[in-house]
Amino acid sequence: MSDVETATHEHRVFPPSEAVVKAAAVSGVAAYEALCKEAETDYEGYWGRLAREHVSWKQPFTQTLDESGAPFFKWFADGKLNVSYNCLDRNLEAGLGDKVAIIFEADDGKVTKVTYKQLLALVSKFANGLKSIGIKKGDRVLIYLPMSVEGVAAMQACARIGATHSVVFGGFSAKSVQERIQDAGAVAVITADEQCRGGKNIPLKPIIDEAFAMGGCESIKNVVVYQRTGGNIPMTAGRDLWLHELIKDQSETCEPEWVDAEHPLFLLYTSGSTGKPKGVQHSSGGYLLHAILTMKWTFDIKPDDVFWCTADIGWVTGHTYITYGPLACGATEIVFEGVPTYPDAGRFWKMIESHKVSIFYTAPTAIRSLIKAADVNPAAHPKNYSLTSLRLLGSVGEPINPAAWQWYYDNIGGGRCPIVDTFWQTETGGHMITPLPGVTTLVPGSCTLPFPGIQAAIVDETGNDVPWGQGGILVVKKPWPSMIRTIWGDPERFKKSYYPQDFQGKYYLAGDGAIRDKDNGYFTITGRIDDVLNVSGHRMGTMEIESALVANPLVAEAAVVGRPDELTGEAICAFVVLKGERPTGDAAKKMIKELQDWVGKEIGPIAKPKDIRFGENLPKTRSGKIMRRLLRALAKGEEITQDVSTLENPAILEQLKG
Ligand code: ATP
Ligand code: MG
Repeated sequence: MSDVETATHEHRVFPPSEAVVKAAAVSGVAAYEALCKEAETDYEGYWGRLAREHVSWKQPFTQTLDESGAPFFKWFADGKLNVSYNCLDRNLEAGLGDKVAIIFEADDGKVTKVTYKQLLALVSKFANGLKSIGIKKGDRVLIYLPMSVEGVAAMQACARIGATHSVVFGGFSAKSVQERIQDAGAVAVITADEQCRGGKNIPLKPIIDEAFAMGGCESIKNVVVYQRTGGNIPMTAGRDLWLHELIKDQSETCEPEWVDAEHPLFLLYTSGSTGKPKGVQHSSGGYLLHAILTMKWTFDIKPDDVFWCTADIGWVTGHTYITYGPLACGATEIVFEGVPTYPDAGRFWKMIESHKVSIFYTAPTAIRSLIKAADVNPAAHPKNYSLTSLRLLGSVGEPINPAAWQWYYDNIGGGRCPIVDTFWQTETGGHMITPLPGVTTLVPGSCTLPFPGIQAAIVDETGNDVPWGQGGILVVKKPWPSMIRTIWGDPERFKKSYYPQDFQGKYYLAGDGAIRDKDNGYFTITGRIDDVLNVSGHRMGTMEIESALVANPLVAEAAVVGRPDELTGEAICAFVVLKGERPTGDAAKKMIKELQDWVGKEIGPIAKPKDIRFGENLPKTRSGKIMRRLLRALAKGEEITQDVSTLENPAILEQLKG
């Protein structure tokens, strides 16, 4: 992606301060390189050492990696452990019983604090309750809960008894729930009467009933209902049970079920940005190890930190960096029920101030929408809040445009906090390519270098390494402990999707395009593989054109796709959300010209979008990611016939039609 790429080459660099380097778990470049070297010299020895040091095993493993069934790899296979024991009991044993595990802030602002001792008691009662209705090791349990202490406890309770959970985000429809129940053959559902978001009560349990009414949910024996609001909802006798009644008389102790390291801790469906969601299956031992390591090295978690990951437990980020990672490290964390814009768009900043949050982890989509909101309502601007407790910021989910990165750095981090731009996927279990705060000189828009031990590389279509400075396909050359084990019930799709024959089935295919900086080897994600554009023979990532558009002060968000063009092979089509009103008629024409010229100046004339369309928003998944595959269809003028089950805002498609 030669000429065009270098034109936007990012020159700002942010080295870590001496104080940050000194205090960090991985301190300085030499320490990082020593870890990478150790992994390179003795790959299994490296991961084996870490697994022994950071995870508590009931029965130690003797074999680190078993490749005999490749690409179905096994890690620490003869070791036994329990993930919930690692997250709860062992913190009590370490004297942290009275430490606050979770600071829960409800939608209405009410705060509840739960200590490790209290959380263990709740999880144990919950686990005993699930056992009392016949749920046992290996059973699948579908969780459809709002952000709550009970949500975290439900997942931990499943882990405690060896049941495999499948969390479905509370915004998904009955159809999605039904499909996921069927796909997993779940035996029980754990849900709530209603959820509270943005000052409204939204029914949840009725969606489960609707899923049942669609048929095919016969595998479900019970529906356990957490009473969140007390709203009036129907209960089916013999099937539906109130959580508080189920656990009322249960014991506060529950012996953990010791499971094999490979035992499936959970199934989780990907967000559906590129196609029909895949049921990703994760392990217990390897997954937990990476959750812990990334908490310690990427987030540099310390005993007195207050950690806040704003994701929902319905996404992998909420699994690894709310339910498992922070608790396994004995940290104090925030669990937030509400939305960032209620009662106003200053909610996040107010919460950081009031809970003295020190590590804050959110998504570019949230940052971009809060930038726009602060523009519209100056009262919601972060400058009105004291954010001095922060020491580290993180970003995840999509590439973060340099302009948004800089705003985050200046306005939230006060120019003082490193930003870890963590590249990873549902399938990878935890961070893959990311800065480490005490090591990495940051470059806005780049996820920088692989986590120590992760063998990330960029190759061409035949699997050969491409030189730095040249774009290609992101792969991981060796299996790693927290990787996806299979797609539930569809091992063939697993092989085809992640270990394709193009690379002789040897490399893990991430599905993203990337480029390494020609000087320092830093990785930048350029978009999904099918998002690379070819305009008159020039290859360009969609990401850099979007970044150029977002760098314009009038633009809040932008998504770029290609469409066939007789003259240039492919033409660039941009969908743009302005900070102000959506222009129409002559105002729109004028704005289109202005933005085309802007991109021409920022990148080069070749990158000028041929079409620009304005919307009040972009089509997004419920996790906030832009669905470019739908935009591709719109750009071509096609009817949308694809899977839209995870689309948040279907109405927007109408607005964006040509
Ligand atoms: P599906 O696989 O169903 O299409 P999805 O890929 O959006 O959905 P996730 O697993 O939630 O589902 O997202 C992982 C993807 O998110 C990555 O492959 C990458 O495209 C993007 N991503 C995540 N973090 C970053 C980051 N820091 N920088 C750039 N891209 C990122
Ligand atoms: Mg994906």
